[in-house]
Parts: sequence; C-alpha cells; structure tokens
Amino acid sequence: MIIALRLRKTVSPNLVFNLATMSNPNLSPFLFICLMIISSHSISICMADESNEASIRHRLMPGTSKNDMPQTTLVDDRRKTLNRINGVLRDTDTGGEEEFNYIEATALGPKNWGSLKPDWKICADGKSQSPINIDANSAQVMPGDLKRAYIDAPAVLINGVNNIGVIWKGDAGGIEVNGSTYKLVQCHWHTPSEHTIDGKRFDAELHLVHSNGMGQKAVVGILQNIGPPDPFIGNLTEEIDVLDTNEEIDLEKISATNIKDGSKTNYRYFGSFTTPPCTEGVIWTIEAQVRSISQGQINLLKGSHQREFRENARPIQLLGERQIWKFDLPGATE
Ligand SMILES: [Zn+2]
Repeated sequence: MIIALRLRKTVSPNLVFNLATMSNPNLSPFLFICLMIISSHSISICMADESNEASIRHRLMPGTSKNDMPQTTLVDDRRKTLNRINGVLRDTDTGGEEEFNYIEATALGPKNWGSLKPDWKICADGKSQSPINIDANSAQVMPGDLKRAYIDAPAVLINGVNNIGVIWKGDAGGIEVNGSTYKLVQCHWHTPSEHTIDGKRFDAELHLVHSNGMGQKAVVGILQNIGPPDPFIGNLTEEIDVLDTNEEIDLEKISATNIKDGSKTNYRYFGSFTTPPCTEGVIWTIEAQVRSISQGQINLLKGSHQREFRENARPIQLLGERQIWKFDLPGATE
C-alpha cells in the first residue's frame, strides 16, 4: 500500500490529497510509516513499500538524480492540474499526457502519430513537416530576417510529460520576422537535437516558440553540444531537479535574453510543430552557431522524464519541394 498526502504550493490554497493504493498483502512486512516533509513547497506524509524508496530519497535530498525513480500513480486531483498545464502547451509545440511517445517500435511511436487521432493526420501525410536535415551547402542566401527584443516577464517552469519548458505569463517581448512581430510564448528542450546539419545530430536543441496576433508560430531552434554548462539552464537547475512530471513551479521574472546572443548565421525554412498535432505553417529559424550544455544538464533534463520521453527527438522528415535559406545577421559576432 502506498499512501501519499501532499500539499502543493502550485495548487494553493486547496489541500490536495494524492492517494494511490495498491492492495498486496505480501508487501505488508515492508510497509513503514516513513516521511513527513515540511518545507515551503510541500508537506508529505507517506506510507510506502521499498519500491517507492527512491522517490522518498529524492524528496529528502533534492539534488539526488531521479533517473531510476519509479513513477507514482496519478490520481484525479492531480490530473486536473496536469490537464490545465497541457491545455496551455498544446498550441505551442507540445502534446498531451502519454498520448504519444518516441519509441518507434510501439503503438504510440512517431510512425503512428498520424493515425492516433483524426486531428493528427497531418503528422503522417503533411508535406511540410519538421524536423529536417539542413544541407548547409544547398541553402540559398537571403537577406537577414530576424530581430530579437526580449524582456523580463513572469514565467513558470513546467514538466509537460514530453519535455521540460518555461512558459511566460506576461509580455516577454519577441522577435520580428518578415515585418511581423511574434511574441515569445514558451521555450523547451529536446534531447538529442531534432534538426540535423549535414547529417550531424547534436546533444540537445532548445526551441523558443513565438506566436503573432493571428496565432501563426515562429520557432527559433538553438542546437547544443556537450561542453561548459548552459547558464540559462544553470539558473533553473534546482527547480528542474525537484520538478516532477505534470507539475509546474512559479519562477521570478525571467528573460530569454539570458539564453544567449543570436547566431551570426541562421537557417530558415517552413515546417511544422515537431509533436502532435504536427501543425504546419511554422516559420523555423535554426541557429548555425552550436551552443554548449553540460553532460550534467543533459542528465537533469532526461532524468525529469519517464523513460519513453528521455529521448524526445522526432525522426527527420522529408524536405520534399521545400527550400532552405540562410542569412547572416549584422552585428552578431559568432
Ligand atoms: Zn520543440
């Protein structure tokens, strides 16, 4: 039997009782009344068997890796919070709770996304899907077409089942593309990268998702390889480490300018969301400058997910008749 009583700051002032029970008389010798954590974030009283020990250890020692922790059963109250979070994310390049996964050999794998729901059909038969491989030599030169103007705004860190992300809740500024302004909505990470350049895949890819007044999306992709730590993730390390699947944590005001200065060279093409519903019409900008991320930060991101989402990169899609462009930005140093 597992009993968890939990008070979460994110759903305050209501007390949320998470009660998950499994009847198994054989486990009774291993039961122990174990834990009361009183902190600014939670109060937990648990009765658990040995299988839940890793989860308990993590709550006692937030720095502990969650890589091999069992996933606890969600109950109705907690799902309400989850649904609310996914409702925010679904428009912005993320998907629902375990409605799909990245394991190709399974029924929910990428090859089957297009047949899982009628609204997802374009995942299978779309002609402008993402991600793609970028053949740098065949990219056509175009004038520079990206201006950035990010500002501080309140945000939340979320663990939306299939990726970790930051959602801005105020005006966080945005980018200008082809004369249109796109406001920053959220950012999230994929491990490894989704886009490849000349067939080379990278260790991670950050997506900055923007939307204009008509709901059209412009996503900037930043490729990352293992090296020195990424300072933007570095500022979020403690929060990511304690963030369980389907939860969110309020952040102070945060700005995307903290991520990095822009790349001198950028690639541009028209594609789609890389997760169901795979909506097309997305203006993609992929920075040619590869940034760094530490192995520990990769582990942190992956460790926050269930196994089927630790490798959360959709396979490369056909370029088809599409053109890839490249442009340099004056003033960018890299
Ligand atoms: Zn993405």
